[in-house]
Amino acid sequence: MNRIRLLVLNAALGPLDYRLPEGVSAPAGSVVIAPLGPRKVTGIVWDEGRLPGEEIAFERLRPILEVLPVPPLPEALRRLIEWTADYYCAALASVARMALASGGALGGPATMTEYRLTGSEGSGRMTAQRKTALEKLSGEQGTMRELAALAGVSEGVLRGMAGSGLIEPVTVNIDRPYPAADPDHAPPDLSPVQAEVSARLVDAVKAQAYAPFLLDGVTGSGKTETYFEPVAEAIRMGRQVLVLLPEIALTENFLSRFAARFGAAPVLWHSSLKSTERRRAWRAIADGSAQVVVGARSALFLPYANLGLIVVDEAHETSFKQDEGVRYNARDVSVMRARFEGLPVVLASATPALESLHMADIGVYERLELPSRFGGASLPTVRLINLTREKPGSGRWLAGPLVDGLRERLERGEQSLLFLNRRGYAPLTLCRNCGHRFKCPSCSAWLVEHRLSARLACHHCGFETRVPEKCPECGESDCLVACGPGVERIADEVRDLFPQARLAVATSDTLNTPERAAEFIAMAEGRAIDIIIGTQLVTKGFHFPDLTLVGVVDADLGLEGGDLRAGERTYSQIAQVAGRAGREAKAGEVLIQTRHPDAPVIAALADGDRDAFYAAETEARRDAGAPPFGRWAAIILSSEDEKEARQAAARLGDVRPRFDDCQILGPAPAPLALLRGRYRYRFLVNARRSANLQAVLRDWIAGVQFAPGVRVGVDIDPYSF
Ligand code: ADP
Ligand code: ZN
Repeated sequence: MNRIRLLVLNAALGPLDYRLPEGVSAPAGSVVIAPLGPRKVTGIVWDEGRLPGEEIAFERLRPILEVLPVPPLPEALRRLIEWTADYYCAALASVARMALASGGALGGPATMTEYRLTGSEGSGRMTAQRKTALEKLSGEQGTMRELAALAGVSEGVLRGMAGSGLIEPVTVNIDRPYPAADPDHAPPDLSPVQAEVSARLVDAVKAQAYAPFLLDGVTGSGKTETYFEPVAEAIRMGRQVLVLLPEIALTENFLSRFAARFGAAPVLWHSSLKSTERRRAWRAIADGSAQVVVGARSALFLPYANLGLIVVDEAHETSFKQDEGVRYNARDVSVMRARFEGLPVVLASATPALESLHMADIGVYERLELPSRFGGASLPTVRLINLTREKPGSGRWLAGPLVDGLRERLERGEQSLLFLNRRGYAPLTLCRNCGHRFKCPSCSAWLVEHRLSARLACHHCGFETRVPEKCPECGESDCLVACGPGVERIADEVRDLFPQARLAVATSDTLNTPERAAEFIAMAEGRAIDIIIGTQLVTKGFHFPDLTLVGVVDADLGLEGGDLRAGERTYSQIAQVAGRAGREAKAGEVLIQTRHPDAPVIAALADGDRDAFYAAETEARRDAGAPPFGRWAAIILSSEDEKEARQAAARLGDVRPRFDDCQILGPAPAPLALLRGRYRYRFLVNARRSANLQAVLRDWIAGVQFAPGVRVGVDIDPYSF
């Protein structure tokens, strides 16, 4: 029968029926273009009987227009898309869109046009905008739209410059092959423990059957070297490998190690790829020629032609959870993908999530351990600095012992790292005259002062404004005071204490491009930096041989707010950053500043007693009915209109279902009650493991008709609430 049902990639539409023209074939998974009213839409041919909808008489069906010349989405991926939509209560089309990430770039010609500066004088007037563009675009190449964004000018300006001979087109071949990775380029000598673990993983790759592993190894144990061997095996077998990393900033370090081991770079995937790179990567992934793909969580849904292994590195990282759109956890979906495809999957971490440890405890995941550091390096010693006794001077944040520690390292020519998980200079700015506080206009959040850029910024929506000279409330000048520290302020303090020291502030503001990250790593490795001051960005992945002191400026910071994972997040962040110290011959020391030395998390860190922390955390979770023992979900109702949001929440509250195995809390204003101009109300649902949580939520929400301005978001297994 040549009737097909399409999953149309427009979330607002349900599945639609079409007809296949005579002689055209489009098996399930094919990507097609179809007419919809006067428009054309992209759709995926879905398996018969798996999408709901009423049959329309065959004569009334319209024919599809075109089958795109790309491989059909494989069956296992279609099942994964269905599972993800179902589990996370998301629209099928929204999940499917992630698989076709390159959007309009599917199929199509093998070349694209990019632009770059010609380097010649050109003709025509030199306007201010043209001058800026010339400065900003030196050495850059991209589409007109990308260059316009880089230069901060309109595409019109750039087109004018092309007309004047300042900019020229370049043809890019997007089907040129990637350099081949050689599995035998430079294999390492593994330690006996590493060799045993990697042999187990190599066997699993050879078997090509579903096998989830928890690779639990202390910081510096060589997890990467160890999982590179199964990666090599997959390459030998002609299978593709996906390595998920939590942060692009970590990629540089990974790339250089990968190149040293395999003699070529892997294929990169992340949200800021240029459109030519994106198309090139997508096509190579879909035709199977991309051997190893290293990417952020969005790489997970791509249509690999013959995947053979998935690795999730730093698997405990919260950035694997997407908090908008489809609210999925890439760590968990990786395991599901491995299951649907029949593959091994490796979750690697020094501080696994409690959920992952639990799966290993009950035998669902196979646990592989690397209990000691590679090459005989020892784990660093940890000492607490009790801030209630060792008080830093007024307007200061570093206590005496930490300052002494920094001084010793400077004298010995060793490196130090100060960790404070707060970007910018100060988290709150107020007027000392009238008490005015600077708040984001679209979020319930204070603006954070960034002195390096002389701006006040919202860390939730990206709003920025210049630091004003006068208080907007009382008109007084020179009256603004910074409250509390951010990394920039710590840098000021260190500069003041040790004017001769060479500092680097490492945050997502300063290391915001791969080039800058690479430059930072080169400088730190080349000993051109004495003291690194950084946010969570520097807590993992980095390996600086001469770094011997890690100072945690405020260990209590993450424990505030008290959400479900505050303890786990604090533990893993501090354990990870501590893991940067003393990774080679020189012993490492960690100094942790805290006001709560007796808090279980802090005490466990001081004693290096991971088991004690996990035991306490397990009990707390069990008592709270939290994962892995029970389940949580959140429903967020939002609207630009406060009253509309409140009413929507009240309506939903009125029809709340009552079950013994589910408890519903709320509605209450969400912790960020205003975000990006939308007012937010929230319900929390706590369910027993056995409850069919998704069915409860779906039925409940479906029973209410919401105003058009209201958005309803469901968050299964939420990270922060
Ligand atoms: P982890 O990810 O477990 O913290 P890494 O994989 O970063 O550890 O390894 C720590 C350091 O030890 C790295 O510099 C790595 O290159 C080195 N290393 C680990 N195993 C080996 C090995 N078998 N041979 C040589 N160097 C190794
Ligand atoms: Zn904001």
